[in-house]
Amino acid sequence: MNSIITVNHNDCLSCRACELSCPKNAIDMVENEEGFLYPNINGNCIECGVCRKKCPIITHSPFRQDKTSYLVQNKDTKVLKKSTSGGFFRAIGDEIIDSNGVVFGAAYDEQLNVYQKKVVKKEDLKDLQGSKYVESDTKDSYKDVKKLLEDGVNVLYTGTACQIAGLNSFLGKEYENLITVDIICHGVPSRKLFHAYCDYRTRKFNDELKNVIFRDKESSGWTARNTKIIFIGKAKKKYVRGILDPYFAAFIRGETYRESCYKCLYQNSLFYRPADFSIGDFFEIDKVAPEKNNKLGLSLVIVNSNKGRRVFELIKDKVYFEKIKEEDYLYIKSNIIVPSSRPIGRNNIYENIDSLDYYNSYKESKWWYRIKWYSIESLKKMYSIIKFVIRKK
Ligand SMILES: Cc1cc2nc3c(=O)[nH]c(=O)nc-3n(C[C@H](O)[C@H](O)[C@H](O)COP(=O)(O)OP(=O)(O)OC[C@H]3O[C@@H](n4cnc5c(N)ncnc54)[C@H](O)[C@@H]3O)c2cc1C
Ligand code: SF4
Ligand code: SF4
Ligand code: SF4
Repeated sequence: MNSIITVNHNDCLSCRACELSCPKNAIDMVENEEGFLYPNINGNCIECGVCRKKCPIITHSPFRQDKTSYLVQNKDTKVLKKSTSGGFFRAIGDEIIDSNGVVFGAAYDEQLNVYQKKVVKKEDLKDLQGSKYVESDTKDSYKDVKKLLEDGVNVLYTGTACQIAGLNSFLGKEYENLITVDIICHGVPSRKLFHAYCDYRTRKFNDELKNVIFRDKESSGWTARNTKIIFIGKAKKKYVRGILDPYFAAFIRGETYRESCYKCLYQNSLFYRPADFSIGDFFEIDKVAPEKNNKLGLSLVIVNSNKGRRVFELIKDKVYFEKIKEEDYLYIKSNIIVPSSRPIGRNNIYENIDSLDYYNSYKESKWWYRIKWYSIESLKKMYSIIKFVIRKK
């Protein structure tokens, strides 16, 4: 059979390219018991195979290879404080809106579901700023993008690398008026887990929750990684130290990711990325250029295409930047070239997710498992770095 059903569930990225391209509306995206979305074929399927041709795992959309790398910091301190790293996203977002363009990126809705939101006004770009450590639903965004591109509108689409690969695959051709930015990420937890966490915080502080801001800079700086939780009533704002926050700690340990993240195609030793830009944190600044670290956050910006280079020229005045060599960061920032290891704690972290008391009964994985996992992870990374260095020579 020549249909999407042949995609292994553990590989699926939940991009929705198959669902949106099906001529018979024969694909529904359905949540599994962990709360991740997967395609499900319904009775309307005529086995035309279109969905298969649009799936980024099967088609391997074009990867961009010719790279220039920069350290970047937005010159606007207000913007910088609301950005998770160096505020590069906002610099490019402003530029696109100034050209009457449209920006897509991850935002919370009123129920704190994360989805790929369309923004046309500068004042709404703040909704897309900041990392939301949960799977963002692409919804109908690829269709909206296609329509806008065909109408000649400039579009900036930002998201995880798999979302960009899904978009490229869905579009099936290059558009001069499309700019893409992929977020260097090590994995995403499910929406259901995030909601279990929100319920836990609501009960703990006995107040209605309005917003969750991960790695809040305002409370104690860029590297402290505190979670700021905003409530509607008397509890107002609470801060939880990053590693003491059960949701964030399990995220950092890599225990809560979607299965496809542990074999992510976009973290590979060939250093292929799907977007015009790849952006991430540059925590390793003290090893490379300590004098540049003003503690307000720095972005690593990798320009992957000529289109990206042209756009970078346009926004240069809005940011401080410095060119760096791949060798300066790839040795220490190995999550660009090697996927996260799947720790033993992943096996049962989603058990009891439907229980009301999930976070109170939640047990962290045993310390000896964690030590074992860290050792295996370090060896894996070392192996990938060596492979990368040998290939470069
Ligand atoms: C789940 C996740 C894991 C990450 N892991 C790493 C990592 O391992 N190493 C690293 O160097 N950097 C990682 N980052 C990226 C980093 O933290 C910053 O988000 C990135 O450098 C952009 O920073 P900024 O200051 O330019 O913009 P910001 O304003 O901080 O970021 C906004 C951008 O992030 C996007 N975004 C936010 N949440 C999501 C989401 N859930 N899904 C898709 N896009 C999202 C928005 O669309 C927007 O483009 C991760 C980000 C996320 C969301
Ligand atoms: S094979 Fe064709 S009809 Fe069936 S789900 Fe795929 S795109 Fe839809
Ligand atoms: S990766 Fe995207 S296109 Fe492929 S099966 Fe999953 S949702 Fe569909
Ligand atoms: S780790 Fe890979 S598969 Fe997982 S969200 Fe990030 S880009 Fe997508």
